[in-house]
Formats: sequence, C-alpha cells, structure tokens
Amino acid sequence: MKLKVILDKVLQERGAAFLANDPLSFPRRYRDPADREAAAVLCAVLAYGRVASIQQSLEDLLRRMPEGPALFIRRFDPRRDVRRLAGFRHRFNTGEDISALCWAIRCAIETAGSLEDFFLQGDDPGEPDIGLALSAFSSRLLQTDLSPLFGPRRRPDGFAYLLPSPSGGSACKRLCMFLRWVCRPDDGIDLGLWQGVSPARLVLPLDTHTARISVLLGLVQRKSPGWKMALEATESLRRLDPKDPVRYDFALSHLGISEGCTGKKGAWCKECAVRGRCRS
Ligand code: SF4
Repeated sequence: MKLKVILDKVLQERGAAFLANDPLSFPRRYRDPADREAAAVLCAVLAYGRVASIQQSLEDLLRRMPEGPALFIRRFDPRRDVRRLAGFRHRFNTGEDISALCWAIRCAIETAGSLEDFFLQGDDPGEPDIGLALSAFSSRLLQTDLSPLFGPRRRPDGFAYLLPSPSGGSACKRLCMFLRWVCRPDDGIDLGLWQGVSPARLVLPLDTHTARISVLLGLVQRKSPGWKMALEATESLRRLDPKDPVRYDFALSHLGISEGCTGKKGAWCKECAVRGRCRS
C-alpha cells in the first residue's frame, strides 16, 4: 500500500485518539480564534519533554489566564502579570520566560496589528520555505525591550529557548509545529487561523519521533537531526502532497508519541500501520 494511503488511514482511524494526547488539544478547547492563536503559541513553545509533564504544565499555565489567553496577552501588564505567572515552571522555562514571551507578543501585535502580520513582515512569499521568515520572527521577538518587566539589565535566561532560529541550524520543531497548527486548514486537527502563509511552504516539525520515523521510512538520508534534515524530510513529503507536505506530520509523530515506536523491532511493531514500509 502507498505510504500516503496508509497515513491517511492512520489519520482517519486514530486521529481523534492522537489529538487527546497532543498539546494541540489545549488550543482546541477555545472557540474564539484569537484565544486559539494565543494558546497555540504558548502551548507550542512549551511542547518539549514527556507528554504528561507538558499536559500538567499547560493546565497550570492556562489556568492562570481565566480571561482567556488572547486577552491575557493583549492586556499584559508588567507589574500585575509577571506576578500572575510567578512560580510557573516547565523544565528549562519559568514564569519569567513566559512573561517575556507574552510581552513580546503584545508588543508585536501593537506594532503590526496581529501576530500573523508581524510574521508576514519578515516573510518573502517568493522563498521556497518559511526558514528565513522564522529566523526573522524569532530574532525580532527576542529584540523586544523587556525593561518594563525586569529593569534595564536583566533578561530571563530561558526566553531565548522559547524562540530558536533555523539560522542557528536548529530544527525549530516547536515553532514549525505552531506554524503547522495555525497555517494548515482546519481539518479537525490543525486550526486554519492564518491565511497569509501557504501550507506548501511549511517545514516538517522535526523532533526525536519524526526524525526516527523519517529515517525508518527512508524519507531522509541524513542521520543528524537539525534544520537540514527537516528540509530533506519535507522535500520527501512533497511527493505525498506537494501543496501540503506537513499534513502527515501528525500521523508520523504519533507513531512514536502515542503508538510507542522506539525505532527498534519490538512488540509495538505488530500493530504498526507502517510496518510494511519500515526499514528497522
Ligand atoms: S515497524 Fe516498528 S520500528 Fe518500524 S515504524 Fe513501526 S513501530 Fe517503529
């Protein structure tokens, strides 16, 4: 069976179960598109580590924003809201890092009109992928003046960890995933919030799971994960869908996250949808 047919079947049969186990289920709790976008950026940047730990952290973070994440960010007040996030922690990141991010997004929205327009200001639609735009997005957000929050000399250590850049070679999984969530059409999984970035230019969010599966399925020759491997895997996925190469990211990543693929032959392989194509 063709890989495209297999992955479509996986999405159809297991998509709902995968979604319940995915950080994308948090933005999907909101009806308002502005809340979905704000929750998406916060949830995507914190989507690292074990699933249970991510879910616990996102519950904690969003509980601190009872007015909704969009309003929380748009009205972010340095004096009041840094305190509201105090004590938050997710592995390498603290409430101060999230305060810095919320403030940077608030400033970006005030400058450009919306977060999408801020992103588009750094984008050239003639570029084949979103790499340069993503680098500009991260570096412009990181340049935000944080002195109203922390004074003139201090920047929280983990702020930069939330906003990596392809220009440094990072695969930028979390930001590529955020873009997948907001730029792909609403198919019951992704959110379809931004219209200005063609899904054809998105790059596969490459993490441990998608890197491993990409090697096992022969989508990449490279062995070391990073931006170049993400581009190589995306190029291979264009053969499945040239207009929407990352539509299969969700299925591929959950073969690891939800189905337990470790990359080695084991009991989990018996039920694996792609075992006929796997090189393990
Ligand atoms: S067959 Fe086994 S090793 Fe290969 S992708 Fe499936 S679960 Fe992973």
